[in-house]
Amino acid sequence: MKIHNFSAGPSILPHEVIKQASDAVLELDHSGLSLIEISHRSKAFVEIMDEACERALRLTGLEGKGYKAVFLQGGASTQFLMAAYNLLEKKAGYINTGTWSEKAIKEAKLFGDVEEIASSKDKNFNYIPKGYTVTSDLDYLHITTNNTIFGTQYKTIPASNVPLLADMSSDIFSRPLDYSKFDLFYAGAQKNMGPAGTTLVIIKESILGKVSRAIPSMLNYKEQIDKESMYNTPPVFAVYTSLLTLRWIEAQGGLEALGAKNAMKATHLYGEIDRNPLFTGFAAKEDRSDMNATFNLTNDGLTETFDNLCKAAGLSGLKGHRSVGGYRASIYNALPMESVELLVDCMQTLEKNH
Ligand SMILES: *Cc1c(COP(=O)(O)O)cnc(C)c1O
Repeated sequence: MKIHNFSAGPSILPHEVIKQASDAVLELDHSGLSLIEISHRSKAFVEIMDEACERALRLTGLEGKGYKAVFLQGGASTQFLMAAYNLLEKKAGYINTGTWSEKAIKEAKLFGDVEEIASSKDKNFNYIPKGYTVTSDLDYLHITTNNTIFGTQYKTIPASNVPLLADMSSDIFSRPLDYSKFDLFYAGAQKNMGPAGTTLVIIKESILGKVSRAIPSMLNYKEQIDKESMYNTPPVFAVYTSLLTLRWIEAQGGLEALGAKNAMKATHLYGEIDRNPLFTGFAAKEDRSDMNATFNLTNDGLTETFDNLCKAAGLSGLKGHRSVGGYRASIYNALPMESVELLVDCMQTLEKNH
């Protein structure tokens, strides 16, 4: 039976990407060697890294605009501390939109003052705060563009008169945006780009070099940029697979095309959540994520019946995070409309039967 993968992360990748990555593990481009046994300093791998960085900048429209892309390790969670290590001298501002923001705030506090500019904690993070002011004494403002657990997403990027940093782990490359509004953004690969093991960081170089502390080499953006992501041995498989996804994105028509497709999937699913009396959406409508749709049954007594319907249809990974409960359908770039249609069918079947 075909399984439809709604997992929040690690999550669905395009089938052809998984196929090409598997082929490369056996043999990379007729070289007689596996991708995972060649030197990361070999011409073949240096080209892979260069192309991945170039494509990331091109897709975000940041080529030639003073930005650099690097592929690092330690997940997005290491970026929580690395961003502060490199950029927080006195005080930074954070918008708290949930678990991942809170983790970023916790790490930043080790390096300086942190001002929580706004928070949606009062309503269990079911909305994106608006209408706050960002004072110019901050070293930077940090946001989480898509809140994987709660299913909220910034639809417009807030104006900021200080450098703007963003955790984009769960919506990188999912929609066209003016990426030049950001001075630094990062994403763990395993949500919308590749396997776990690498984190893409895109940095405007001019924001670096302003803090007075010494920074260990592995955690120093400037050092990682100068060494072209190869200060130490990079996670070659994760970088290569991410590159395959970046090529796939371009072949799909780029971020405009993917954004339109993602919006269609989200509209279809939220339409059913709103129409079907057995379901209720968790996130505020205007802030609903096009990547992670969170919803609950209006009657908890139907949980087992609905779970069984989904299971019989081959739908996997729909259980909501424990801090929200209910269901979460992660509908990342690689998830086809067909999978969303099947989920909607199950929701309608439940309604017909009750
Ligand atoms: C998954 C996730 C993280 C954590 O990523 P790791 O790579 O596991 O450290 C951070 N932020 C967001 C928004 C996420 O969805």
